[in-house]
Amino acid sequence: MQDDAAERMAREEVARISEALAARVDELEAERALTLLLARTDGLTGLLNRGAFTAALIDRLEAAQRSGERLALFVIDLDRFKHLNDSLGHHAGDQLLNEIGRRLKGEARPGDLVCRLGGDEFAVIASGDQVARRAAALTQLLSQGHTIYGRTVSPGASIGVAVYPDDATDAVDLQRYADMALYRAKSAGGRRWSAFDTDLRLAGEARHSLEAELRRAIPAGEIVPWYQPVVDAADSRIVAVEVLARWNHPEKGLLAPGVFVPLAEELGLIADLDAAIFASACQTTAPWVAQGLIDVVSCNVSPRELLDPGFSRDLLRRLKATDLPATALTVEITETFLVQDLGLARRHIERLASKGVRIALDDFGTGYSNLRALLQLPIHTVKLDQSLIGDVGRDPRVSKLVRAMLAAAKSLDARIVAEGVEDEAQALFLRAAGCDRMQGFLFARPMPAAEVEALIRKQAAELGPRAEPVEEAPVTALRARR
Ligand code: C2E
Ligand code: CA
Ligand code: CA
Repeated sequence: MQDDAAERMAREEVARISEALAARVDELEAERALTLLLARTDGLTGLLNRGAFTAALIDRLEAAQRSGERLALFVIDLDRFKHLNDSLGHHAGDQLLNEIGRRLKGEARPGDLVCRLGGDEFAVIASGDQVARRAAALTQLLSQGHTIYGRTVSPGASIGVAVYPDDATDAVDLQRYADMALYRAKSAGGRRWSAFDTDLRLAGEARHSLEAELRRAIPAGEIVPWYQPVVDAADSRIVAVEVLARWNHPEKGLLAPGVFVPLAEELGLIADLDAAIFASACQTTAPWVAQGLIDVVSCNVSPRELLDPGFSRDLLRRLKATDLPATALTVEITETFLVQDLGLARRHIERLASKGVRIALDDFGTGYSNLRALLQLPIHTVKLDQSLIGDVGRDPRVSKLVRAMLAAAKSLDARIVAEGVEDEAQALFLRAAGCDRMQGFLFARPMPAAEVEALIRKQAAELGPRAEPVEEAPVTALRARR
């Protein structure tokens, strides 16, 4: 009797436990489903996120291949989102993104997929029919104003479209082509849509072949240093040169860095390119320095290179293999490094400076000039950007602005070089305002080594030897005194 009761109790206990277990399993299943859903959706708008979008696009393309249907990919980017986000605050920015998501969902047709790719970028995967009408409607829909915290804002949007199978047959190309079309819509001023077409295809192909040629050109030595003289502001005498890359292209002739430096940066080839130019330039200019013809050879490095932990060590090793003394070398960097990895950049800069290499801050006045951060670095030279120079000496407001920039540059205890000086009026003003050196078409354009050497030697013959340059105190010592 007692045994029966015990057995019943044990059975009931087992039933209770398995019930609890089943409930827990259901709970876990629900949690798993939620986790999966969350992993696929964007937390702010509830739309599919980028990862889910890529998977969905691949699925859709496979299905379209079987059914023979056409598909359109619309990529959408708000035009002035960053500006609105900065001026109205992140909460308002989030509201705006939410509202855009709602509008896109409201406009969607059965079977469409609406996604937020990140930031202010959205995408719609839709039927490939009537693409133009749809793109126009989307542009119109997103251009209407939004009321955010009682204020009406209308950032507008740009849209790029690519169609399967007309433009591309796989997800990677389709996205790339839609992005290219988007980029064109943006460059044309925004608030418009653009479809991938033959022009874009040709531009893409030209870029592709330039890429292949650039990979070949660097080891082949087709990219060579040219030199632009830098003059002393007091007497316009050449005292330094800046090394500027030129590509001797076998068919296209001489190409300027604007064509290939950004491409080399994007392809991760810039370090190789600069290394090749650097070695050649240091070796070529070493005798000019040794003979007292010039005192500075200035080389450009890309912000990207400062992100390479081996950058300064490699540069110093390369320099050592030439006859150029470290104190005659200036490395030109832009402020972009401040927003990337300041710690690493600072280590490179300090290591170079400790060996006597001078650091120049290039394009000063175009960045955001974080003077406080710059103050902590051994910056020896500041190069005033040519965009500031244009109307100097003519427009009083520009002159005032440049005077303020000069004062800021002086607070760094640096030598000041004005770039892009093209006429006497500018030179007159800059000299009076306290620039130490000048560079620009007024004095000389960039030219090959032989030409610049001839020019410098002719000048030395006419004007006699330069007075010995006063050895300046290292910047670090100046800083220590403050
Ligand atoms: P940057 O360092 O600011 O170089 C000055 C640019 O201004 C040069 O253009 C020069 O030819 C041009 N310039 C000089 N004087 C005047 C003038 O009076 N008026 C006008 N309108 N322009 C003037 P370039 O040679 O086309 O170089 C463009 C940029 O490409 C350079 O700007 C630099 O950022 C980059 N770059 C050039 N060579 C190299 C290189 O070897 N390595 C790297 N990483 N970048 C380079
Ligand atoms: Ca430069
Ligand atoms: Ca510059």
